[in-house]
Amino acid sequence: MIMYADRINSLPPYLFAAIDKAKARIIEKGVDVINLGIGDPDMPTPPHIVEAMKKSLDNPDRHKYPSYEGMPSFRKAAADWFRRSMNVDLDPQNEVLTLIGSKEGIAHIPLAFLNPGDVSLVPDPGYPVYNIGSILASARPFKMPLLAQNEFLPDLDAIPEDIARKAKIMFLNYPNNPTSATATIEFFEEVVDYANENEIIVIHDNAYSEMTYDGYKAPSFLNARGAKDVGIEMHSLSKTYNMTGWRIGFAAGNRDILEGLGKVKTNVDSGAFEAIQEAGIAALSGPQDCVRNMNKIYKERRDALLIGLRELELEVKPPKATFYVWVHVNGPASDFSKMLLEKAGIVATPGIGFGEYGEGYVRFALTQSVERINEAVERMRKLDI
Ligand SMILES: *Cc1c(COP(=O)(O)O)cnc(C)c1O
Repeated sequence: MIMYADRINSLPPYLFAAIDKAKARIIEKGVDVINLGIGDPDMPTPPHIVEAMKKSLDNPDRHKYPSYEGMPSFRKAAADWFRRSMNVDLDPQNEVLTLIGSKEGIAHIPLAFLNPGDVSLVPDPGYPVYNIGSILASARPFKMPLLAQNEFLPDLDAIPEDIARKAKIMFLNYPNNPTSATATIEFFEEVVDYANENEIIVIHDNAYSEMTYDGYKAPSFLNARGAKDVGIEMHSLSKTYNMTGWRIGFAAGNRDILEGLGKVKTNVDSGAFEAIQEAGIAALSGPQDCVRNMNKIYKERRDALLIGLRELELEVKPPKATFYVWVHVNGPASDFSKMLLEKAGIVATPGIGFGEYGEGYVRFALTQSVERINEAVERMRKLDI
């Protein structure tokens, strides 16, 4: 009998199991399924980034153990990118840390700052790793509901005082997965005040900072006054440069927080493959028209999908950022997803999979061509619900 540790046994159940099963059944029947379920870019990594890695691979110096904190040249490229994109100055020496994808940093940071039983504040609905990373550190995640009436920002005043006192970490993510909500610098400044009052470390996940539309520019948490005293920001090359499989990202901000994360990393992993870091340098320092082109494509897809959703008489605001459309539906989200799948062969993710406050919503990912999205819209038009 193999026994798992309590921390594994206490992980939440996998909430997409039912929809995965239904999807497999429908595909088996031969239905041409349109998958708008996955948040993984369908387009390839831009060629100049791939070429940079190919070139790097021929250099035997790159074949060795990397340093856990990342190559100085990658951290400098990240700091330069930060100055250009966000107007934030960072010391590449100790205010930037290379990550093996931002998920790695998010999962590891609770190990550096949470003792067993400590509280972390996590958004709900949210990217599951904030919650799960906290559980793996034997900490107690407290859910901050993201509600439509608050524009999917957490209501800091609604966090009970005893929880605020016990909390050590707060996770935030804007532009947001799954709601596609955005935050202002003013909101981030409220968060900084709250963090100072309650001695909380803020971890802001900015995986979608560059995926924006209609002239919107997403701020960095580090743009907020005093942010560097209380927090760090996680950045990912995955969504911005279609590099999900490469596993490269970075954390930036408060040097003591980064040092804590670095202590975990130096004992757990041995850093990101240097050839991948060199590809990352090409991405961050190279021409950015690939990002603009992809945003144009996502915007076209977004607008096509909105037509279909309005056919279903669903009320949706066009998202200003991310490649997700978060839609309020009538009744349980899983029933709606099941109906879309069974009657139209369309996969969309029920919001409940992102936490209990995701109930009543469905997330569509714009990770199919505009032709396929138009086909999905046609199918929705024929649905009578
Ligand atoms: C995709 C995603 C990530 C993961 O990024 P990696 O750098 O590939 O690990 C992190 N946060 C959010 C909110 C995401 O949607």
